[in-house]
Amino acid sequence: MLKALCESAKRFRGEMPRRSYGKIKFKYVIEISSEDNSFQIHDFEKEGVVLSVPLRGDRSGTPAADNLKSYLLADKAMYSLGVPGKGGKKRADLVHEGFMNVLHRTCEQTNNKDALSIYNFLREELKTDKTQKEIKSKGIKADNWIAFKTDPKEYFYDDDQIAKAWEKYLEKECTSVDAECCICGKKKKALRIYPWQISFFGYSCPISSFNAESFESFGQSQTSNSPTCFDCAGTATQVLQYLIKNERYHAVLSKDEAKGTGKTPLKNQMAVFWTKDEFAPAQVDETITIDFEELQTMILKAPEIETNLGPPPHEEQLKQLCRYAWSPRMAVREIQDNAFYLAVISPNKSRLVLREWVEVSLVNFLRNMGRYADALTIVSPDGQKAWAPPIPVIFEALKPVKTSLSRRDDDVFIPQKQDVNILLNLLRCCYTGALPPQSLLERAVMRFRVFEKEPETLKQKLRMEARRMALAAAMKLVLVYPCLKEAEKKGKETYEKEVQRMEQLDENEGKVSYLCGQLLAILEEVQRQHAFPKRLNATLVDRFYGTASTAPQSVFGSLLSMATKAHMTKLRKNRFKKHDELEKLLEDVNEKIIAAHGFPKILNMREQAEFALGFYAQRAKFRKN
Ligand SMILES: [Zn+2]
Repeated sequence: MLKALCESAKRFRGEMPRRSYGKIKFKYVIEISSEDNSFQIHDFEKEGVVLSVPLRGDRSGTPAADNLKSYLLADKAMYSLGVPGKGGKKRADLVHEGFMNVLHRTCEQTNNKDALSIYNFLREELKTDKTQKEIKSKGIKADNWIAFKTDPKEYFYDDDQIAKAWEKYLEKECTSVDAECCICGKKKKALRIYPWQISFFGYSCPISSFNAESFESFGQSQTSNSPTCFDCAGTATQVLQYLIKNERYHAVLSKDEAKGTGKTPLKNQMAVFWTKDEFAPAQVDETITIDFEELQTMILKAPEIETNLGPPPHEEQLKQLCRYAWSPRMAVREIQDNAFYLAVISPNKSRLVLREWVEVSLVNFLRNMGRYADALTIVSPDGQKAWAPPIPVIFEALKPVKTSLSRRDDDVFIPQKQDVNILLNLLRCCYTGALPPQSLLERAVMRFRVFEKEPETLKQKLRMEARRMALAAAMKLVLVYPCLKEAEKKGKETYEKEVQRMEQLDENEGKVSYLCGQLLAILEEVQRQHAFPKRLNATLVDRFYGTASTAPQSVFGSLLSMATKAHMTKLRKNRFKKHDELEKLLEDVNEKIIAAHGFPKILNMREQAEFALGFYAQRAKFRKN
C-alpha cells in the first residue's frame, strides 16, 4: 500500500497541503518588528486564527531532555515562550530551550529573515520585565498556541525555505542507519520513528510503526525488515491523509458507536480508493460517462431513502462497466497502464491497521466491478426498475429486523466478527473477481424468512422494501455470479442473456425450488384479490413462508386446496377476469412443478434462496401490474 500511495503522489501534488505541516487554531499571535524588536501581542480570543504551520505528530508523554519534540516557529506557550505550566519552571525552561534550538538551526541553515527576527526577539527580549509583564497581562497560559509574524499583513509560514528546513531537521531527528528503502529502492537513511500521524474516526496513529527499542538493541526488528526512507514514508502519509479527508476517495464502512468506555477503534473501518493516475471520466455514449471514483459511491455508500425507492442517478454507469471492458477503447494506453487501488483501514492505538488491500489493473477492475454489479442487480419490489444495492444497504438488511427498523438513516452497521468476513469477501468479489461468500447466502436466506408487520409511515415502508430488495439481491449475487463468469468466456451475447435472466421474473425457469416460491406469491395474490377492496394487514405469507420455503411438501397441499375451494370460488363470482388470469397462472406453475416431480420434501440453503427469488420476482410482477 505504501508503494501505491507514493506512486500516486504526483497525481495529487497540487491539491495536497504541505507535508509535515498541520492546521492549528491560534489564540495569540505575536507581531514583532524586525527593526527594533518591539512587539505586540494580538489576542484572537475564542475565534482564533487558523494557520497551517510546521508540525510533527509524534509528540507524546512527559517532555524530557530526550523527548522534547518541539515544533518550528509555532508552538504552545510553554515551548515557544517558556510559560510554566504542569511540571513547573524547570520543565518550561527545558522545552523552551528545545524550541530555541530548532529555531536556531533553521536560522543557520536558511538565513530566513523572519526566522532570524523571531529568534533574536526571543533571545534578547523574552526575559525582560517588560515582555514578561505583557505576557502575564494578556493571560497567556502554558497550553495556549502562539504564532508569530513580522509583517503586519502577512504570515510567513507558507514558505518553501522554511518547510524544507523543517523537513531536513525532522529527517535528521527521525532516521538512523543507512538501508535500502523498501519503497523507492534507494540506499538512504531509514526512519526510526514516524513524525507523522494519520487521523480518522477521532484517532491518530502512524501509518506504520516499529518497535524502537528492539530496533536499537537488536538491530533486527520490523524496521530493518522493511526500512523506509523519510521521503517515501512522508509522502505515503501525506497522500493517505489527503484521501481520508476527501469525500471523493473514501467511504465509511463501519463505525464503533459505543459511548464512553468500551470503545474499540478496530470496529471503525474505512475504505479508501483511488486510481493511480488521473483518469478523465470515460465517455460511453452521449448520456453516460464513467467516473471511477464516483462509481465507488454506488458500491460502498448507503443512499438516503426518503421519498422513493429507486436507483441512484448513476446506476446506468454501473451497468455499463462490464460492457465498457469489452469495447475497443480499452486498448487505450492510459487505461492499460493505470491501476485501481482500494484499502480497508482501521485506526488502532499504536498504528494503522490495514484490513484489506486490493490492487488491480483498470481493465480487470472494470470487468470485475461490472460483473459484480450485474450479478447483484435485481428488480425493485414494485417491479418498476432494477438496481444493485450498495454494500451498507446489504449489511443493514442482514441485521435483525427490530434494530434495523428503529435505526436512523445515517447510521452505519456495526459489524460482528462474521460480518467483517462477509464484508471483506464481498469487496474481494467486487474488485478482484473472487467468488462471493456462501455465508452471505445463508444469512440472507435466514433474514428473508422473517416478515415484519407492514409499517405505518411511508419512510419506514420504503426502508423495509429496500431491505427485502437488498436481501434478494445478495442471494442473487451468490447464485448468479459463477454463471456470469462462465458466460463471459463465451462472449458478449451469452453474457447479456445471462444478465437478463433472474433480474426480473424468469418465466422459463424450471427449477422446482424457484417455482414453489413463485407459487406462494400467486397464492398470496389470490388471497389479496379475494379480500379486495379490503386491504389485508397480514397474508398467508407471514404465517407460511418459513415452512413453505424449507419443507414445501408439508404445506402446499393445504394451501392449494384452501385457495381453490374458498378464495377462487368467490373470486369467480365477483371478478371474473381476475379469476381467469390467476387460475391460468396457478395451473401453469402447478403443471411445471408436477413435471419436476412434485413438491420436494425439503429444500437446502441454495434451493431456499432460489425459492426466495422466485417468490420475490413473482410478487414484484404482481405489484407492477
Ligand atoms: Zn524511499
